[in-house]
Amino acid sequence: LEINIVPMTMSGEEEPGLLLVMQDVSAIRKLERMRSEFVANVSHELKTPVAAVKGFAETLLAGAINDPETARSFLTIIQDESDRLNRLIGDILELSKIESRRSPLQFSPIELPSFLGRMTELLSAEAARKDIELDVRTEEGLFLEADEDRLGQIVMNLMQNGINYTPEGGRVKVRAFVVASENEEEEFVRITVSDTGIGIPKKDIPRIFERFYRVDKARSRSSGGTGLGLSIVKHLTELHHGTIRVESTVGVGSQFILELPLIQP
Ligand code: ADP
Repeated sequence: LEINIVPMTMSGEEEPGLLLVMQDVSAIRKLERMRSEFVANVSHELKTPVAAVKGFAETLLAGAINDPETARSFLTIIQDESDRLNRLIGDILELSKIESRRSPLQFSPIELPSFLGRMTELLSAEAARKDIELDVRTEEGLFLEADEDRLGQIVMNLMQNGINYTPEGGRVKVRAFVVASENEEEEFVRITVSDTGIGIPKKDIPRIFERFYRVDKARSRSSGGTGLGLSIVKHLTELHHGTIRVESTVGVGSQFILELPLIQP
């Protein structure tokens, strides 16, 4: 609560009075705090790969370049860290674009079976490398009104996480079907992405959609994650008037449940 006291004299009165102004600023302060936390996080996240690139480049120049094997391994690290930097910048720009509503969604009818087929295609090489089975099945002829690129980002992020957080030999399963709302007045498409992966501890579940929140920082880094994927997913889902939640058991696997209106309101 912000309280301001202003002296004032009412017209016709001799004695000066005081005006008390009370304003609830908690929402404003919270927003300010979130914003400055985000800036601090962004700076930290950007500095880490830059420091690695600089450090390895310096070591190379100081002489390591003369040993071809060392040089190759340091240059590989520089390349990987530059890639991470690129992904981070891309995700940060994406998030800010979504939040400022600068690019409104372009809704069109999307045929889900072929759409999910394309997503699977794009991830098939990566899944094969980890010996992970991609099992995707949908109702035939299922259509949904959505922004195709953004829906692609949502589904790709969820499937990519499924692959990242599942040990070799596991499975990532995608299903899509129509469900009715409780009052049976609206129809939704429910898309589930489940994996046989490491799972998410109960205490972390409420926070995983926050920006930069990771259960295991080292694991997220080694799988190439930016910590922004799920917050982008959540934002894009909300722009589609949909919902997303997760059910998970540590050591068994996770299931992300996405529900989007069949027709945009
Ligand atoms: P990241 O780039 O770290 O993957 P995300 O925003 O996509 O960031 O996810 C946030 C965190 O949620 C991850 O770091 C990970 O700890 C957890 N997570 C997301 N998806 C899964 C999953 N399918 N299985 C287990 N943990 C997951």
